[in-house]
Amino acid sequence: MGDTLVEESKNPLKIAAPVAKQMLAWTLGKPGELSLDQKEVPLPDRSELLIRIDAVAVCATDLDVIANGPPALINGTLPFNQGFTPGHEYMGTVAALGPGVDEYKVGERVAVEIHSGCGQCKRCRSGMYTSCTNYGQNYGEHDKRHRANGFTTNGGFAQYAVNHVNTLVRVPDDMSDEEAALAVTAGTSMYGFIELGGGLLAGEKVVVIGPGPIGLLAVGVAKALGAAPVILVGTRENRLGLGKRLGADHLVNATLCDAVEAVRSLTDGKGVDYVMDCAGTEETVNQAILMCSRGGKICLAAFPHGRVGIDLGHAVMNNIYLYGIRGEGKSAVARAIALMAAKRFDATLIHTHTFGLADVPKAIQYARERIDGAIKVVVKPQSY
Ligand SMILES: [Zn+2]
Ligand SMILES: [Zn+2]
Repeated sequence: MGDTLVEESKNPLKIAAPVAKQMLAWTLGKPGELSLDQKEVPLPDRSELLIRIDAVAVCATDLDVIANGPPALINGTLPFNQGFTPGHEYMGTVAALGPGVDEYKVGERVAVEIHSGCGQCKRCRSGMYTSCTNYGQNYGEHDKRHRANGFTTNGGFAQYAVNHVNTLVRVPDDMSDEEAALAVTAGTSMYGFIELGGGLLAGEKVVVIGPGPIGLLAVGVAKALGAAPVILVGTRENRLGLGKRLGADHLVNATLCDAVEAVRSLTDGKGVDYVMDCAGTEETVNQAILMCSRGGKICLAAFPHGRVGIDLGHAVMNNIYLYGIRGEGKSAVARAIALMAAKRFDATLIHTHTFGLADVPKAIQYARERIDGAIKVVVKPQSY
């Protein structure tokens, strides 16, 4: 028995330096229970690469997965007690190439998209791999090779992960690991605008509701794409202040005024072309509907915690379009990282804390309880 992947692998892997066979990874036991375990370093199969994870950001969806399960789905069921490693917003360094991969070299730095669809369903064939109809079908007789790392396959709270080649985006040399780990968040914001306006935002009026990570980076992306004005609606002054630094033209504090009236008065009473709701509450979805101009479009970019009642009549009578998105798609992470590389907005403004791998529970606690003003908390799995 050898100690490295090179000696053990049956695949014709290409590895520059020997990779250890064992790694440290956080695994999900019962709901809310994570443990740091030794795991075998996974082997990349055809069209896959092994990524050494250098930075992984904690996302609100990780908190949902760890506490409740969905949207994670492992072996067709809830993700508990199956040795599953969560974490989906990461970047790293190519450590090994699986068979058939020559698009990247060992040692290149890469950011990732979460979803790699099956490639054979109707949605995947039209480029909507985030909406793959074989979601979670990657086991036993149901193996359609769907991957959504941190949701249906092992993710980034570990030292290594396997990624499909289609999910990777090169990271420029002068971009930090921490910033590159935010590319998937920026990619989600970008995907929302691709769905709303095909990415053509120049001259369009945009409202972003909810200055969490996706909302704040949505402000940066909208501004970089030429939207005017970009209006950010929130309830906390410090978050609104960050929105200003990311390019918002107008800030609306919904605790101090009627947010719908404020947006209407900023737009000659007509409302905006596009609203991105990054809060997902009944109040904000209805605000979004009333802030939209006739024929405008709304992107629903937050997972609500429960059923939401909406003013459907107003939406229908005013020809308002509603789009739900669950994450990035249509290569949006590559587009977002291009804007970040060109310094069109500073994603690092939302990065507040960094921890080593052993401190994942603390990192999650900081993110969940917003300790010390935490927004995006990043873990560096190569340090402890
Ligand atoms: Zn996320
Ligand atoms: Zn598919």
